[in-house]
Amino acid sequence: MNMEKLETLLKDEKSFRKKQIIKAVFNEFIENFDDATNLPKDLREKLKKEFPLKIEHKLFISDEGKSIKALITLEDGQKIESVLMRHKDRNTVCVSSQVGCAMGCAFCATGKLGLTRNLNVYEILGQILLFQRLLKKENERVSSVVFMGMGEPLLNYENVLSAVRLINDKEYFNIGIRHISISTCGIISGIKKLAKENMQINLALSLHFSDERKRIEFMPIERANHLTDTMSVIKEFIQKTGRKIMIEYLMLKGINDSEKDAQKLADLLINFETEKAHGKNKAPHYFVNIIAYNPTGGFKSSDKKSINDFKNILTEKGIDVVERFRFGREISGACGQLALNNVCIK
Ligand code: SAH
Ligand code: SF4
Repeated sequence: MNMEKLETLLKDEKSFRKKQIIKAVFNEFIENFDDATNLPKDLREKLKKEFPLKIEHKLFISDEGKSIKALITLEDGQKIESVLMRHKDRNTVCVSSQVGCAMGCAFCATGKLGLTRNLNVYEILGQILLFQRLLKKENERVSSVVFMGMGEPLLNYENVLSAVRLINDKEYFNIGIRHISISTCGIISGIKKLAKENMQINLALSLHFSDERKRIEFMPIERANHLTDTMSVIKEFIQKTGRKIMIEYLMLKGINDSEKDAQKLADLLINFETEKAHGKNKAPHYFVNIIAYNPTGGFKSSDKKSINDFKNILTEKGIDVVERFRFGREISGACGQLALNNVCIK
């Protein structure tokens, strides 16, 4: 959807027309302007021809429909992926923020592609819209959005934040800000900026390694954004927003899944909390999300026992741990390991 084109098309129309169109498209989720009956017929015809609502895509379904991946072709032919995860009580859409990613994390399929370009605001919204249109047929809605698809959201800061505001906007998707999450590999400047937004958004840090020397080996971001500094800005974020942080930890067999690694993670988090916990609220301001690695090449996923032992060590130290539900493995639909499969799906 090309919003600049819409502006041009509406330049001789009454000013409230744009609002009506936005509402019809992003709040009532129409797929055809014939359904926007509050618009005059000639305008509807013009919009049908010149402002197509179609989002070009292919769908891949798995887990008996609980997980749906969309491969979306953008107007310039670039391809991105998004995933709908259907839980009992909510529908979460995992969106991409960039075509590819410049961060080059060794375990990530998107990282292998390098960065092509940032997504614009409406390319981000289009991903949610696509799934919302599907859900509408079942009288359901997208209830949460996570920026955990392709790309590093904090390196496309302005567009991601504008998209977040519109996802939250009553005239658009009207999804509560507390149901929107941004995941970052640790872009310090971006976290600082986000802390100043005065927003109750969720922030997730893809930590994956508590040892800086190990982290640098697999996550090049560590070279310029050291973990100690990242953890201090995370602290600022917590102090400013009062939100809990999600610490993501990807379990890579033989690399970061030993008991020693678990101890080290526990120490890092406990120190972090002790330094910070002067306030009235003594409850931990973080929880750990253990992520099973989806094999995309070069690494093996940890076995069940290592994952359980790892979790137990953290739990014994009083750290909250959850394990991300493994939706959509068979369609490569889990967030963060998208993209490379594009090569073979066509
Ligand atoms: N760039 C951001 C958000 C996108 S990646 C970030 O790195 O946080 C979303 C999550 O998927 C990150 O935690 C990332 O480390 C993880 N991830 C990457 N490759 C993965 C894989 N093969 N299996 C499971 N998770 C993966
Ligand atoms: Fe980029 Fe995130 Fe993948 Fe790292 S894990 S390469 S930051 S998308």
